[in-house]
Amino acid sequence: MSFSNLGLSEPLLKAIKDQGYNTPTPIQLQAIPTVIEGKDVLAAAQTGTGKTAGFTLPLLERLTQTHPKMQKKQIRVLVLTPTRELAAQVAESIKTYGKYMQYSSTVIFGGVGVNPQLATLRKGVDIVIATPGRLLDIASQKGIDFSALECLVLDEADRMLDMGFIHDIKKLMKLMPKKRQTLLFSATFSNDIKKLASGLLISPVLIEVARQNTTAEQISQVVHYVDKSRKRELLSQLIKTNDWRQVLVFTRTKHGANKLTKQLIDYGITAAAIHGNKSQGARTKALASFKANEIRVLVATDIAARGIDIDQLPHVVNYELPNVPEDYVHRIGRTGRAGMSGEAVSLVCVDEHKLLFDIEKFIKAEIKKVHLEAFTPDPSIQAEPIQNGRGGGQKRGAGNNSRNRSRNSRSRNDKNKNDSTKSEKTQTNRSKKPENRAAAQIGSKIQEKLNKLEKRDNDNYNKRNK
Ligand code: AMP
Repeated sequence: MSFSNLGLSEPLLKAIKDQGYNTPTPIQLQAIPTVIEGKDVLAAAQTGTGKTAGFTLPLLERLTQTHPKMQKKQIRVLVLTPTRELAAQVAESIKTYGKYMQYSSTVIFGGVGVNPQLATLRKGVDIVIATPGRLLDIASQKGIDFSALECLVLDEADRMLDMGFIHDIKKLMKLMPKKRQTLLFSATFSNDIKKLASGLLISPVLIEVARQNTTAEQISQVVHYVDKSRKRELLSQLIKTNDWRQVLVFTRTKHGANKLTKQLIDYGITAAAIHGNKSQGARTKALASFKANEIRVLVATDIAARGIDIDQLPHVVNYELPNVPEDYVHRIGRTGRAGMSGEAVSLVCVDEHKLLFDIEKFIKAEIKKVHLEAFTPDPSIQAEPIQNGRGGGQKRGAGNNSRNRSRNSRSRNDKNKNDSTKSEKTQTNRSKKPENRAAAQIGSKIQEKLNKLEKRDNDNYNKRNK
């Protein structure tokens, strides 16, 4: 089967050819004709299956079929995504596939000024790709008019629910016309997703291209058991001895991401961190440098890494296992994309044995354990409770305004998140006091010292291993 049999017109086929795609992926085979027909779709698609092209190609095709005159603030297609990164990624795909077509599109997300976004929307736009929070802000300012909306896409809907966006989505839905096409993509079909889908979709075509809750088979997965205090050393060694050039490393917390990045840099490995506390500019820059192979390691938290799409990303490292087994699947899905092979390495300390057990249960497979003599864990070390960050674990929903905080705290079934949100607030209040500011300064001096000591250890380690 080739793309030319799916009902796509010449400009799209030409763009696909430019991309070097020869055959449609299974999701594209099923979704493209169905979406062109105008039907609603409920698709369970793992990350890396080519799902973005699966909906963007037919949507672009449908846009060319009619040419209504756009009124001020009206839009024709809305793609909702959980994160800014994914929104940017979808926008990039639309640009790539629609390069021989006439249409307008824009990306709307928080963390950047709203006025340019309002100005763009004022003219009327064919395709809007947005995160729910900022879009709702704009809608409540009457900056967008959904009355001409033809199609709504919810991409990574499971993640949007995890991040507590359900209230924003419901409010947005009330503003949209009932008569429209709706496509819902989700990695998993939880009961919540089914409930959401039943309220949004009309007689949807069900598309399921991969088994649920499984990890892509072309990804080789290994676990290294290692003491927590030696993870950094093992990671550096793996990177250097295997000469890994592009590694995406996951930490559980933003603080952990910063710390590890600094340690890697001190050790002579180029690295950058990407997480919700970084400005949008810093995140974009880090990702661009990583994609361009200017830095070797991108250290990310789960939310920030959603939607990162790097062709042929060969290595993903779980420096710390995620608290939620689904996140493991999403993390390692960053490699082995579109048929390429990839490697996912997890560094597991004694505290994380239960998390590993849960992950293996979830993916219904045992992950291969590799024992490295030099890193045999110290059996006298006892398991300790997992720390989810100093005054704040990874805050789902990224961004640091109070709106996000209240949205996050509304979210269901994620106790850690609520806990971390609370402690983050307390931290902010505390740091306003002069004595705490002083403490923070002293803290950073201690940190500097620790970094120096660590560097000295690294140097000694290097000398020993020369
Ligand atoms: P996605 O699952 O949408 O994030 O896509 C994963 C990757 O697959 C992206 O890097 C796409 O560029 C690539 N891709 C999408 N469709 C195809 C195709 N038919 N053939 C080869 N690569 C593709």
